[in-house]
Amino acid sequence: MSRVYNFSAGPAVLPEEVLREAAEEMMDYKGSGMSVMEMSHRSKIYDAIIKEAEADLRELMNIPDNYRVLFLQGGASQQFAMIPMNLMKNKKAAYIVTGQWAKKAFQEAKIYGEAVKVASSEDETFSYIPDCSDLEIPEDADYVYICENNTIYGTKYKALPNTKGHTLVADVSSCFLSEPVDVSKYGIIYGGVQKNIGPAGVVIVIIREDLITEDTLPGTPTMLKYKTHADADSLYNTPPAYGIYICGKVFQWIKKLGGLAAMKERNEEKAKILYDFLDQSKMFKGTVRKEDRSLMNVPFVTGDKELDAKFVKEAEAAGFVNLKGHRTVGGMRASIYNAMPKEGVEKLVDFMKKFEEEN
Ligand SMILES: *Cc1c(COP(=O)(O)O)cnc(C)c1O
Repeated sequence: MSRVYNFSAGPAVLPEEVLREAAEEMMDYKGSGMSVMEMSHRSKIYDAIIKEAEADLRELMNIPDNYRVLFLQGGASQQFAMIPMNLMKNKKAAYIVTGQWAKKAFQEAKIYGEAVKVASSEDETFSYIPDCSDLEIPEDADYVYICENNTIYGTKYKALPNTKGHTLVADVSSCFLSEPVDVSKYGIIYGGVQKNIGPAGVVIVIIREDLITEDTLPGTPTMLKYKTHADADSLYNTPPAYGIYICGKVFQWIKKLGGLAAMKERNEEKAKILYDFLDQSKMFKGTVRKEDRSLMNVPFVTGDKELDAKFVKEAEAAGFVNLKGHRTVGGMRASIYNAMPKEGVEKLVDFMKKFEEEN
């Protein structure tokens, strides 16, 4: 068996311990004589899996009792519609557009009401986070929407926006569980798990109870109402059962390593290795304003498209895969999520040094 260092933005690297454990339990989960993939989601044994996953996530994120945790499907992209359908009582919401995912959410919201762009960093290819300390937020906006870590552009909010009392909704797909978080500051925190937690097919929505109501936009399908899933403890219909089981294993892995404070320390250490190298390199340059740099996604360029392509190709041959940047940015991007070991980043930097010397 040979594993590569996988810098994919998502689906992305998972902890080896988790994959090994899942392999061991594949044929016979805890004496049930079957795989978790084969069991009823209404069985006692599965109930324990989903309940334990939720309890561990609550412990990790210190989720207050007045928040519900929902395990849903449809990816983060489905939330772009579900959020306005459930929250737009006044048919108005404020969006901060800091990248492609925030922009898609903003455009989707326009289908359901008045989505107001209150800030954007599109003028400089989303390479920074705008000042959000004093934005003009409409009085009657139902919520303020952000994408907290911009997977494609590699920026991250270091301070949450001043919402002036409005409900904050955040897409945290690519920074989920990467550092401690104060859940009470948000109305909704959600993310697809395929970046930093588990396999594609699960989206986790952490939502304050008062936002779960029958009062959704007319025509909202049953499956797209938060209330449907909250009332049924995420078992209204068949959930993405196997994916939730893997997420549960990742929660336990994080707990074992010391929780979110330990994750933050690890992630800062890893990111520093790469950013420090970029800051002194004559060939490779980071593309993001320094104070807004993400700990998870690190885009960089050489300034020469052919050299970029050569780097990506030679890196792949050396076992560093999925380093090609997003098509809208070009260059390279190293996604260094929780499960990327420090050694992977160190070896990548060694490889970059060697490449710089030789080219
Ligand atoms: C990947 C990603 C999405 C899209 O997720 P899907 O599950 O494919 O819909 C949305 N937001 C962010 C921040 C992402 O990184």
